[in-house]
Amino acid sequence: MTQSFDICVRGAGIVGQTLALLLAREKFRVALVGSSGPAVPSQQDVRAYALNAASHQLLLDLRAWPEGSAVTPMARMKVHGGQSHSGNPATQNPLGHLTFSASEINQSALAWMVKVPALEQQLSEAIRYQPGITRLEGEPAGAHSHHEPIHATLTVITEGRQSATRAELGVPFNSRPYPQTALAARLHASRPHQQTAHQWFFENQILALLPTGGPEGDTYALVWSAPHAPAAVLQTLGAEAFSAHLNQLLEKWAPGSGNPGGLSLTSDVMGWPLYFSQAVRWCGAALETQSPSSAWVLAGDAAHTVHPLAGQGLNLGLADAAALTRRLRDRPYWRSLADLKGLRAYERERKAGIWPMSWTTDGLQLLFELSPAPLQTARNWGLSAFDRSGPLKQWATKIAMGLT
Ligand SMILES: Cc1cc2nc3c(=O)[nH]c(=O)nc-3n(C[C@H](O)[C@H](O)[C@H](O)COP(=O)(O)OP(=O)(O)OC[C@H]3O[C@@H](n4cnc5c(N)ncnc54)[C@H](O)[C@@H]3O)c2cc1C
Repeated sequence: MTQSFDICVRGAGIVGQTLALLLAREKFRVALVGSSGPAVPSQQDVRAYALNAASHQLLLDLRAWPEGSAVTPMARMKVHGGQSHSGNPATQNPLGHLTFSASEINQSALAWMVKVPALEQQLSEAIRYQPGITRLEGEPAGAHSHHEPIHATLTVITEGRQSATRAELGVPFNSRPYPQTALAARLHASRPHQQTAHQWFFENQILALLPTGGPEGDTYALVWSAPHAPAAVLQTLGAEAFSAHLNQLLEKWAPGSGNPGGLSLTSDVMGWPLYFSQAVRWCGAALETQSPSSAWVLAGDAAHTVHPLAGQGLNLGLADAAALTRRLRDRPYWRSLADLKGLRAYERERKAGIWPMSWTTDGLQLLFELSPAPLQTARNWGLSAFDRSGPLKQWATKIAMGLT
């Protein structure tokens, strides 16, 4: 017998699971379609996400926030600007520096680094204990979709960047690849990280060391965006060669006190191709073959993706989930969940919400990709000037933290 639901959430990644929890708490009958396993099925996901204050609060409220050493509050972030390719130290550009600090804006953390498997497990647990959610198995990501009809007034598509259902609906998805692969891995350091993250923008690469293992920890999550060819080579190096190469680079980029200490690789090195993308339409009426009084809407990476340099992709997706739940809950009682007016209001709200962050990260990426020396000098000067800018810097920090 076909079951019927108020809302079907298609795609059980972190955004889909969070949304299902939020909707069930508002007493909607929810179907969550997708396997309950991790998003990267064959290997453990080595990433740790930087989650902002808004995401932190959202997941705490849902009792889906991991505990213990899976979470590390980030107290400081040091950003280091690039150097010219010239081998002669006398002609090298001055380095730009920028330090963000939670205490400057009276917060306990700039962001929280959360290990991805711990977050996925915590969400699955929360879903198991939440009445009102029916889990249905879906196809693995990338498989051609051929689903059993599920009767729901509204279908929310949270299938990630390569969403098959979005493609089936014929929704145009503007997607521009970055000329970089993001490598992610886990590292052990010879010194405690002291809750400090580092990010270097050097020679068309962006390398981030993000503190993990708890406040006293001495491990980092690495996110290294490098051009495809060198990234592919780095993935084939063994642990020793990879660590040696990384330490050598950091000695060059961060001599002396700026250096986080000797690093050694403790995991696989996983790679992600990077895209700047956004769906043209985020909602619409269901296809004629489906129920005529139903509608679809997009959320998370199925609607938009950004460069991971500012660690904002999931934060934006979780903000989509919160905004959509609020719109559906607060709609006038005579309006159906499939009412396109309300869904369009959600689309407008979130397009405006992601605009500043997505264009800032895209612009930063482009700025640091440019190699002419005068531009590097200006850019490094700009970083240091921004560092001294007081209120402007505090305002930008609050935006990235999801506090405004
Ligand atoms: C290297 C790297 C580092 C990052 N770091 C950060 C960070 O620090 N902070 C941050 O906020 N963001 C970060 N991000 C971005 C973040 O990973 C994404 O924004 C986030 O995972 C999007 O979640 P999602 O649930 O929308 O999509 P996904 O994680 O892609 O999940 C989609 C789910 O849907 C399933 N699915 C797909 N098709 C179907 C189908 N047809 N039927 C059923 N199920 C289906 C998939 O199996 C998957 O489980 C990073 C990204 C990368 C690449």
